[in-house]
Amino acid sequence: MGHVPLTDHQPRMPRRTSRARRAALVVVGSLLLTLVTACDRDEPTPTTSAYANQTPAGPEVPQPAPNASPTIAASPPTGEQTPTTMSGAITVKGRFSTVTGTVDKATLTAYAKMADTAVAEVSKRWKRTWPRKVTIIAPADATTFRDQVGRADDLSQVAAITDGPIGASGLATGDRVVLNPDAFAKLTPAGRQFVITHESTHVAVRSSLSGAAPLWLVEGFADHVGYAGSGRPRAELAAPLLAKVAERTGPTRLPTQGDFDPSQGEIGPTYLAAWLAVDLIARRHGEEALQRFYAASRDPNSPALADAAMDKAFVAVLGTTRAAFTKQWLAELSQLAAPK
Ligand SMILES: [Zn+2]
Repeated sequence: MGHVPLTDHQPRMPRRTSRARRAALVVVGSLLLTLVTACDRDEPTPTTSAYANQTPAGPEVPQPAPNASPTIAASPPTGEQTPTTMSGAITVKGRFSTVTGTVDKATLTAYAKMADTAVAEVSKRWKRTWPRKVTIIAPADATTFRDQVGRADDLSQVAAITDGPIGASGLATGDRVVLNPDAFAKLTPAGRQFVITHESTHVAVRSSLSGAAPLWLVEGFADHVGYAGSGRPRAELAAPLLAKVAERTGPTRLPTQGDFDPSQGEIGPTYLAAWLAVDLIARRHGEEALQRFYAASRDPNSPALADAAMDKAFVAVLGTTRAAFTKQWLAELSQLAAPK
């Protein structure tokens, strides 16, 4: 993996209690922002990068919180990770969502609507049984956001963090999606919807499938669901990646965990690469096979074992190999990047 050990690398402790929590987060991609100086400021531009971790962090093991950024990874979860209450918070209930926060009620209502849309989108593509409910926390300021997620490190790149207790079955039992108010202030409405749908995908998967899958599959799948409703062409959504491919600085293999680490370079294109790989599986083999592939590409003990499981799943589920698939995916990237 060539990456600092995250929780994924730790031997799995017996899950003692619901205190074991894990986090997933969305990193703000530049195209997701409302670009003040850009010409396309009014366009819905849902492009982001994101990270989810499938492994609970036992509170008895002091270790970095898993995420996509080294600054964030350097910060271990503190204390019991019990969500703190927000003074003055109000709650708005949607059909499939509960949104609690200190932002104004109209904003909470808008988020509830987005979460309802997200649950519907996710349910179209994730067929395992999950509660089909999303809980959103919407703090009005950065301090409250930090209190909620129990972090003191630089979260400026992070649009949202999903965390929650892990039950004895290895499934998340009470995930919450905590929105970063500073990041959300910069997002377009489409970008906000994208983030909420992406995170809701993690909520669905984490509550219905235990164990860790390779990160490119976890993030690529969440993007796959997040982009599904965008109605925008792949080449447009993946432009930052395709620019690299055109310059011959694009990927040469499926993204590794280290590729999601911003200290090792730009991570936006990595998420797009993961997304297009997942998208290719869905188009070639269908949504159902994609889900079977996801389910088969897991291991409760380590990312390395999950990677080995994925190698087998390429053969057993998709009737191909990692090498052959990688070749097809890279060929498609070149094709998408080629001048028309
Ligand atoms: Zn994610």
